[in-house]
Amino acid sequence: MTTAAPAPLPLPSDTAGWTAFVTDRPAERRARVGAIDARLSAADDLPTLERLELWNDADLALGESLAQAHLVSESHPDAEIRHLAEGQVQELDALQAGRLLDRDLWRAFADADADGLGDEERRLLDRIRRDFRRGGVDLDDAARERVRQLTERDTELSLTFSRNIREGRREIRVPVDALAGLPQDFVAEHPADDDGLVTLSTDYTDLMPVREYARDRATRHALVGAYNDLAWPENEPVLTELLEVRAELAQLLGFTDWADYEADTRMIGSGAAIPEFLSRVDEASAPATSGEYARVLERLQRDDPAASEVTIADFWYVLGALKREEYDVDAQAVRSYFPFPRVLDGVLDVTGRLLDVAYVEVDAPSWHGDVRTFDVVRGEERLGRIHLDLHPRDGKYNHAACFGLVPGVRGRTLPEAVLLCNFSRGLLEHDEVVTFFHEFGHLVHDILGGDQRWVRFTGIETEWDFVEAPSQLLEEWAWDPEVLATFARNEAGEPIPADLVARMRTADAFGRALEVRRQLGHATTSYRLHVDRPADLAAATEEYYSRTSPVQPLPGSHSYAGFGHLTGYGACYYTYQWSLVIARDLLTDFGDDLMNPEVARRYRTEILERGGSRDAVDLVQAFLGRATRFDAYRDWLAGA
Ligand SMILES: [Zn+2]
Repeated sequence: MTTAAPAPLPLPSDTAGWTAFVTDRPAERRARVGAIDARLSAADDLPTLERLELWNDADLALGESLAQAHLVSESHPDAEIRHLAEGQVQELDALQAGRLLDRDLWRAFADADADGLGDEERRLLDRIRRDFRRGGVDLDDAARERVRQLTERDTELSLTFSRNIREGRREIRVPVDALAGLPQDFVAEHPADDDGLVTLSTDYTDLMPVREYARDRATRHALVGAYNDLAWPENEPVLTELLEVRAELAQLLGFTDWADYEADTRMIGSGAAIPEFLSRVDEASAPATSGEYARVLERLQRDDPAASEVTIADFWYVLGALKREEYDVDAQAVRSYFPFPRVLDGVLDVTGRLLDVAYVEVDAPSWHGDVRTFDVVRGEERLGRIHLDLHPRDGKYNHAACFGLVPGVRGRTLPEAVLLCNFSRGLLEHDEVVTFFHEFGHLVHDILGGDQRWVRFTGIETEWDFVEAPSQLLEEWAWDPEVLATFARNEAGEPIPADLVARMRTADAFGRALEVRRQLGHATTSYRLHVDRPADLAAATEEYYSRTSPVQPLPGSHSYAGFGHLTGYGACYYTYQWSLVIARDLLTDFGDDLMNPEVARRYRTEILERGGSRDAVDLVQAFLGRATRFDAYRDWLAGA
């Protein structure tokens, strides 16, 4: 039972408090790590278990500080505080990398006797040793110094890359009639200015409706084009150097390339296995692709007879039109059932029932007045705390993601995690509802997996290519008629009709292969950029995308400059399809009843609550009673 209390946060208006939160507090944690390292370096007579416990103490101090600095750098409304937080990320990353290059520290674990350790302790020792080797501790002095420099540069470039995206918001101005096709509430929220023009921004709350509904092709192209050039040209030299730094680092550490370095600790196992996996996805999605594309192109040409190809700026609009006309699914009618407050209540209620927890809203300070904080409880026991920061604002992270705040350690710290999303405050698109469930999948994984002895294995600290399985699994709940009927209601209070949801599901299967090929384009780009390091990023990226998908990128665009996953996911964007193969397989056990209490309990206890304490392959085996298979994913791609 966790008796730990949540970490107190300053009030939004408390600038001094937030400044201290991202300066004094991590400085104190760094000092704590320094003291621990001094003890470990002189550890000759310390039993191995004590060494592991000291290392864990340092992991907790570092992990907590890094999570908090990352979160604040992406979310705080005050640019100066975001900047201070970035400085802390830099210092903490450097400290972490430096520790793995420290020969004295290394000796404390290289020489440690594993006799008498339990399985999990042995696994931890093994992981620590692996981290040291991957950190470069075996290299000579000159090479270790170079690793140190390159690692620091990677952090610095990654922070700059993310900042340019976060602060790269763009606007276009269009005549009023360019909004033809957009929902009434959207038009009402976008009045014309004195020049008779309407401003549209690259924020999701504008981008997504325009992509989906704007009948005017030029408007769609203009806004998607602006979005594709987010952080360009600023990020062009940043990315070029980042790819060089990573390649040199990987080679110094004994790997062929950065993909190989990253894949080494993941389920996939090696860099070379990434293109092999992507070609399996290619084969599985190939049969449906050409038929889907022919229908999409034909529909586009009905609006615009001169169109010779479907671009990424047409894709969602044309899919939406086909779904309305041929599957009787009108996205505007669908969204009327998803007012934001109902969706929030629904996500909390559904995941609460599924995972046998309740969410109790608490009045606690945070970084912004929009943030809502809930304790996650079961009976009398508090399991963790979540913070939901769900609407856009200037300078905030502009996608949707789950961030850690406090790593959970049994009896010591209560796990806390945060969602940063950019939802409308009014009606949500069904896509956004799916995103909400997806991100909640990460959130509950982090909280329920947060009752661990070792920080190294807490929450979402599994192999990184497993991490999107719990989130993509939970997306399915946003497609279930019975689940949706519990919360999706329109203004008149009528629940979403089951036959509409059934048509949505049928319609969703159409375009699935094209969507998977779009994902394949991202995965190919993330992998090839890191392996090929092309001199001309724009030309190479255009080629990766145009080769993998018949839906074409906008010519002359620079989407790589705004491809935020290139920092955190690096060469491994394949993770999404890899995890999806697993998620589709895990879903087979739920059968027709997503709320089946026995399966839900098994999912919670065998997968979520284990965190990273077991290898992902064993988590899957324990839940399914067998190894994972590709079949369910292939069936799903075929429209099943
Ligand atoms: Zn995710």
